Amino acid sequence: MTLTKNQFKEDFIKKLISKRGKSIKDATLWDKYSAFGSLIRDYIAENWVKTNEKYISNEKKQVYYFSMEFLMGKLLENNLINLGIKEICEEGLKDFGIDLSEIEKIENDPGLGNGGLGRLAACFLDSMASLGIPGHGSGIRYKYGLFEQKIIDGYQVEFPDKWLQCENIWEIKKPSKSVEVRFGGNVRIIEENNKLKFIHENYESILAVPYDTPILGYENNKVNTLRLWSAEGIKKEFDYEYFNKGEYTKAFENKYSVESISHVLYPNDSYDKGRLLRLKQEYFFVSAGVQSIVRLFKKLGKPINKFNEYIAIHINDTHPALAIPELMRILIDEEGIGWDEAWKITKNTISYTNHTIMSEALEKWNIDVFKSLLPRIFMIIEEINERFCKYLWDNKYTGDFDKISKMAVIADGQIRMANLAIVGSHSINGVAKLHTEILKKQELKDFYDIYPNKFNNKTNGISHRRWLLKSNPKLSNLITETIGSKWINFPEQLMNLIQYKQDSSFQEKIYDIKQYNKNKLANMINEKYSINIDPNSIFDIQAKRIHEYKRQKLNVLHIMHLYNRLIENPDLDIVPRTFIFAGKAAPGYYIAKQTIKLINTLADKINNDKRIKDKLKVIFIENYGVTLAELMIPAANVSEQIATTTKEASGTGNMKFMMNGAITIATFDGANIEIADAVGEDNIIIFGLKDKEIFELYKNRLYKSIDIYNEDIRIKTVVDQLVNRFFPVKNDEFSVIYDSLLKYNDEFFVLKDFDAYVGAQQKIDKLYRSRFKWLEMSIANIANSGKFSSDKTIHQYATEIWDVGSILDYY
Ligand SMILES: *Cc1c(COP(=O)(O)O)cnc(C)c1O
Repeated sequence: MTLTKNQFKEDFIKKLISKRGKSIKDATLWDKYSAFGSLIRDYIAENWVKTNEKYISNEKKQVYYFSMEFLMGKLLENNLINLGIKEICEEGLKDFGIDLSEIEKIENDPGLGNGGLGRLAACFLDSMASLGIPGHGSGIRYKYGLFEQKIIDGYQVEFPDKWLQCENIWEIKKPSKSVEVRFGGNVRIIEENNKLKFIHENYESILAVPYDTPILGYENNKVNTLRLWSAEGIKKEFDYEYFNKGEYTKAFENKYSVESISHVLYPNDSYDKGRLLRLKQEYFFVSAGVQSIVRLFKKLGKPINKFNEYIAIHINDTHPALAIPELMRILIDEEGIGWDEAWKITKNTISYTNHTIMSEALEKWNIDVFKSLLPRIFMIIEEINERFCKYLWDNKYTGDFDKISKMAVIADGQIRMANLAIVGSHSINGVAKLHTEILKKQELKDFYDIYPNKFNNKTNGISHRRWLLKSNPKLSNLITETIGSKWINFPEQLMNLIQYKQDSSFQEKIYDIKQYNKNKLANMINEKYSINIDPNSIFDIQAKRIHEYKRQKLNVLHIMHLYNRLIENPDLDIVPRTFIFAGKAAPGYYIAKQTIKLINTLADKINNDKRIKDKLKVIFIENYGVTLAELMIPAANVSEQIATTTKEASGTGNMKFMMNGAITIATFDGANIEIADAVGEDNIIIFGLKDKEIFELYKNRLYKSIDIYNEDIRIKTVVDQLVNRFFPVKNDEFSVIYDSLLKYNDEFFVLKDFDAYVGAQQKIDKLYRSRFKWLEMSIANIANSGKFSSDKTIHQYATEIWDVGSILDYY
């Protein structure tokens, strides 16, 4: 937008008065933030309305991205950049003696997601808006996002994330667009004009109230919408009947139990517990979302059988898979169309992304629980299941009960959400090439055999505007000075940097910027934890959810091994290293939480041991989230992507680090394979078991971790140190970790990959000694990272799955 500094200053003073009732000199920092934020939202509003009008008037298809999680990060700076007014505002505020970066600190980071899946949804929104694709988000406005993590005495302690306690300047509540969502009750079937009618009665109604947040495109005046639903009681603030009977607390009960639906985000990543409240949450936002889409569609005045020509609904994992029976319900019960036509419309509307092959993450619902909570939806799923099983019987698997019960949507007393999502959609995509191949050839082979055309790959991506332009301004400026600014819209142009990879003056600028970002992180660590880290050491970072499959344990055992070597020989020639960890563990995941305790215990020991002459430091930074990631990732020299091969479907952290010039040490898994492919094997350190070897080991069951432990003295030493008083903790503090490696035969092949990992780390040490070589690698990584922009991913979703176009001229 066009804005002069004087206009901005005038607007800002007015806003401060109208909204906070204060002049500049009386205003607190919070007043200034609140006024500034609302002013920016005002600036956005006009384009928001215009964009929506354009979407309606040009009658183009729109896509709705349904996701339980949106890990957006702070929006203020992002919005200023996308509006193209960051400098103007910065200077205008400076005239008032206000530091923009201080204002930005006030904003809460909305943690409405656990990790990669939620962050992917946020990157996709960014890319859809920037590409001019009519694409919106639909999710839940959790009152409490993911818990805040504090480390106390080395342990993770969880605190509620009260992100809404102060005003959320971006959202607009739209009570007039509320919809009713029904739970419980029973279904009465009647016959009317020779047709069966399904009457849902005795249900409990909950009001779903939408809060809309604008999603800005980059300097293109387009504004999409993230619509998050909040649950409210439908009838009354409290129940007068109980109140009059003198049952004071009971009078409020309904209100609280209803609102609890959108209270809190489940803190498990890649793990499903099958909880009733979670099922309520899923149906709640899906029903609200689908109802509001149907209502909007009907305003277009098109016949309902053209629904899928105007609407695409994408489901991010199976969490929103009830969109399938919900759309069926609306089409049949409310629009009065027959099953076959409704099924065709539904399948053509919905597409599904599979995020994992790990069985503990697969959603299944007990049918008794499901039936009583969602009786009509259950009937529809039963019908879907019966027709699907009949189809299998008639067409391919006559008499093959085993096969059919394996593929059924309902079996063994459970509803299988993945099977429902596959049967009820027209597209199933994996999130990296290897992952999609595993789906086709193994995990979902039976489905691939009957629906080969439904399966496709869409390798994940990241917003280069968030993860480079915004979070690494110095590097962004250097890139723009060097190759111009077109990369911001066309990230593959980053490739033009490749010609400078051996240019020593460019290399030195890259070096200085990395050093600047490392200093910034080091200062934060020093301020917060009073630990001095050497900015000249290698910053080696593993930042992601704490999970056994991600193998933080492997990293830890290697550090213990290095430490042992240094104690043995304090003059050992290694490049000083700072190992930095961050990540949250699910509150009920004991071994993951003990891994955090182990990292902190090791950190205490190493950081205070004078004998090793500061060659090694270990830091755990608490409360990983988007804001912390934006500080850590630009400061990394080494990116740890060491999950057990086949377990990390794609990963997106890997892409962020690469884009910021870190060298990746990785297993040949997920998107790491594609990163290796892009940068070439000289510019990444790959180690460890390959997918075929992993599957072989699972199959032949020949792996015995105890043998490796007995044969390799390095391994025996570090594993024993977990339980032999090497650490000043109670005897059994780390026995759960010790047991996982030996007694339970090391399910994630930590010991099996140990030797290869040590070798890979030695390579890093050696490469870092050649500044020229290291910087050349670093530049090659930045240059090749444009392929992993979510702009590219979204372009593929739009053309190959959704069939939606851009409203911009140049796409
Ligand atoms: C990108 C991101 C993730 C995902 O990281 P992986 O290494 O792919 O697991 C998790 N959390 C946050 C805050 C992120 O920004």
